[in-house]
Amino acid sequence: MADFDAIVVGSGCAGPIAALELARAGKSVLVIERGNYCGAKNVSGGRLYTHSLRRVLPGFAGSAPLERRIVRERISLLAETSNTTIEFTDAAMRQPEFESYSVLRARFDPWLAAQAEEAGAEYINGIAVESLIKQDGRVTGVQAGEDAITAEVVILADGVNTLLAGDAVGAPAPLPDQVAVGVKQVVALPASVISDRALTSDDEGAAWLFVGEPTHGGVGGGFVYTNRDTISIGVVATLSDLVGSPTPVYQMLEDFKEHPAVAPLIAGGEVVEHSGHLVAEGGYDSLPPLVGDGVLLAGESAMMCINAGYTVRGMDLAIAAGMHAGRSAAAALTAGDTSAQGLAGYRRALEDSFVLKDMRTLRRFPAFMEHTPRLFQSYPAMAGRVMQKLFLLDGNPVRPLRKAVLPILKQAGYTKLAGDALRGIKAL
Ligand SMILES: Cc1cc2nc3c(=O)[nH]c(=O)nc-3n(C[C@H](O)[C@H](O)[C@H](O)COP(=O)(O)OP(=O)(O)OC[C@H]3O[C@@H](n4cnc5c(N)ncnc54)[C@H](O)[C@@H]3O)c2cc1C
Repeated sequence: MADFDAIVVGSGCAGPIAALELARAGKSVLVIERGNYCGAKNVSGGRLYTHSLRRVLPGFAGSAPLERRIVRERISLLAETSNTTIEFTDAAMRQPEFESYSVLRARFDPWLAAQAEEAGAEYINGIAVESLIKQDGRVTGVQAGEDAITAEVVILADGVNTLLAGDAVGAPAPLPDQVAVGVKQVVALPASVISDRALTSDDEGAAWLFVGEPTHGGVGGGFVYTNRDTISIGVVATLSDLVGSPTPVYQMLEDFKEHPAVAPLIAGGEVVEHSGHLVAEGGYDSLPPLVGDGVLLAGESAMMCINAGYTVRGMDLAIAAGMHAGRSAAAALTAGDTSAQGLAGYRRALEDSFVLKDMRTLRRFPAFMEHTPRLFQSYPAMAGRVMQKLFLLDGNPVRPLRKAVLPILKQAGYTKLAGDALRGIKAL
């Protein structure tokens, strides 16, 4: 007989939810997390869309360490000297079904783990699972330090840096254009200063994404999220672009922080946290098999993450995948069949949910970004030049707008512009 019904590897977003569902179903479940405490090594931007968390923990808002409810959205085309921004606010952002919050993982992940523990999951922290135990090709447990621990089913929720997915289901290592490197700093400032600068109340916050200058024209972007008394600021750059870049990613972040559009936001603040992490960007076509004999993959261990340019989403996908993994594993345990066939309901559940539906809808977007360098290299400056024609007045007679603006668009190339717009629309 196995030591546990289920073992969950990793306690980021997917792991604790999978464990919570298993414990709720009356199954014995052990979570093994390599960090000395949950969240110790985890990074997100981090803006959490709460719809999937609400499904599992409807009362989450009463106790979860949320930072600020996001009510102000900004997307900027950032060039060397200019910044062209679209801003969006809507009362609907306060409706429960659309709510999103800034979170800090060092606070959020321990809370998530505590929910699983309260439901009955056992936890071991501070030990990494080094390998899987297999019998006749079937996963039957894990090797963690000195301990060999067995289970009827193992859920891999060990994130994008997984060392186990290859052995579990033959998942290939991600290609350099399927992952990005994210570097982030948390900058402390008084809550009221943050509210004033982001134009929000003290409970509410802003999400701000930037394209162009933050990655020095490479694929990726910059982000700013306002927390209660800190600001999260970072840069995410695709690994394949970074390989040939003369500027290392940490320098990109330093340059981004000094941009005139960004510097006033964090002026006078103290950097209290610095982190870096990979993020999966390959989309639907980079998904590995999600199920093997005795094993399931949930969250970024299975490349579940969406960078749609205007939003970065991994946490809501991981939470939903964890929920389905936990429920499918519990059902397979009850049915007495944890083979790949017995666990196949997991893939079906994900295909029916927003997780794989959204990833499928946006499957062309990673390739669109990769093959449209103008998005990051020339369009931000072009937008700035158009804005100059609108807003810079020096007393000389103005030219008709069409005569002032059309040459700027012509310089970029009408055909290229139209083609990029069309391909962008198709990819979305
Ligand atoms: C810079 C950056 C910005 C991002 N911004 C956002 C955002 O704004 N919104 C959003 O939704 N998503 C964002 N993401 C993505 C999001 O953080 C991830 O998609 C999400 O954390 C994935 O959850 P997960 O549970 O699959 O993996 P993780 O949260 O990475 O958790 C994996 C866990 O497994 C543990 N682990 C790993 N290996 C082992 C092992 N061998 N043994 C034991 N434990 C192990 C790790 O310590 C970790 O706790 C961002 C990511 C980055 C890097």
